[in-house]
Amino acid sequence: MKNILITGGAGFIGANFVTYFIEENPDINVINLDKLTYAGDLANLEEVAGHSRYTFVQGDICDSELVKALFEKYDFSDVIHFAAESHVDNSISGPEAFIKTNVTGTFNLLDAARKHWMTGPNQYKEGYETSRFHHISTDEVYGTLGATGLFTEETPYAPNSPYSASKAASDMIVRSYFHTYGMQVVTTNCSNNYGPKQHNEKLIPTIIRKAITGENIPIYGDGQNVRDWLYVLDHCKGIELVFKNGKPGETYNIGGRNERNNLYIANTICEILNELQPKETGSYKDQIVFVKDRPGHDLRYAIDATKIETELGWKADENFETGIRKTIAWYLNKLDKK
Ligand code: NAD
Repeated sequence: MKNILITGGAGFIGANFVTYFIEENPDINVINLDKLTYAGDLANLEEVAGHSRYTFVQGDICDSELVKALFEKYDFSDVIHFAAESHVDNSISGPEAFIKTNVTGTFNLLDAARKHWMTGPNQYKEGYETSRFHHISTDEVYGTLGATGLFTEETPYAPNSPYSASKAASDMIVRSYFHTYGMQVVTTNCSNNYGPKQHNEKLIPTIIRKAITGENIPIYGDGQNVRDWLYVLDHCKGIELVFKNGKPGETYNIGGRNERNNLYIANTICEILNELQPKETGSYKDQIVFVKDRPGHDLRYAIDATKIETELGWKADENFETGIRKTIAWYLNKLDKK
């Protein structure tokens, strides 16, 4: 049995990943290290809470003594690193936490792994030769696109928010551990995820929640900002493939080839809700309002996923229209249970 450290497993993508990965891999134990910030929620992990191969540790990835002690206690074979401050709006009002967790925290984990697995550059201790560090990152590191073009793994980094800058910095530190120490690292840069268990503050949960509670549905600017939407379970499958088969030192972009603008997202959600849970009068669309744009709001992100598709045979199963139905059904079911 291998012990794998997963960080940030109580957050949106981490919790979906832990739940998926533990079932798919009967030969691993998962140790989930999460600080439980406002974004972490143990309710996201109820499917695995009593699982014999699952352990939860509440703690901060910036706490180097704790991270070192966990490596000693569990002798991790690998690390899959999700933990981050992840909300762009929060990085504008309070950037410091982003630098601490995303930059210092990532460094801390990498360095603990290096010391536990290696004796020197390119020298792994016996038994750790296949150990790897998988860093989860974002396409926001590439900056913004105009109306055309796609981000590839070769696109130069040009982050525009404190969030994306902190993720870009962490990606570079991860890269340096491959080039300097020969550590087996892989990085995935994904587009906007959506699906069950996402925090209320993000766009899609906000639209669904506000629609149902009869509030205004706020859309930044003119609603024309485009994101490449990725259903979270498709992302989890992509991460697992890169973790197992990706080439050390490489980065892989993961995107659903599902470019949609924010106004389309809001309209589509309202149409599905009109069908599933009609209002007494009017349409949910009547609740959409345009609000002042976010500073530095990137116009468009879109990923060229050719590398992961051709090298590793990954492809998103869901398009936005099928994935959003599953997502809305999950939220309605959750609200029903309250
Ligand atoms: P999230 O905000 O939902 O969850 C983050 C988790 O990390 C939370 O459980 C939180 O408690 C934990 N955490 C935060 N600071 C910590 C610390 N110092 N120590 C330990 N745990 C800490 O985030 P998410 O949306 O699930 O994103 C996961 C990863 O994927 C992040 O690295 C993010 O940058 C990346 N990503 C997310 C998206 C997206 O659309 N959600 C897109 C691209 C990349």
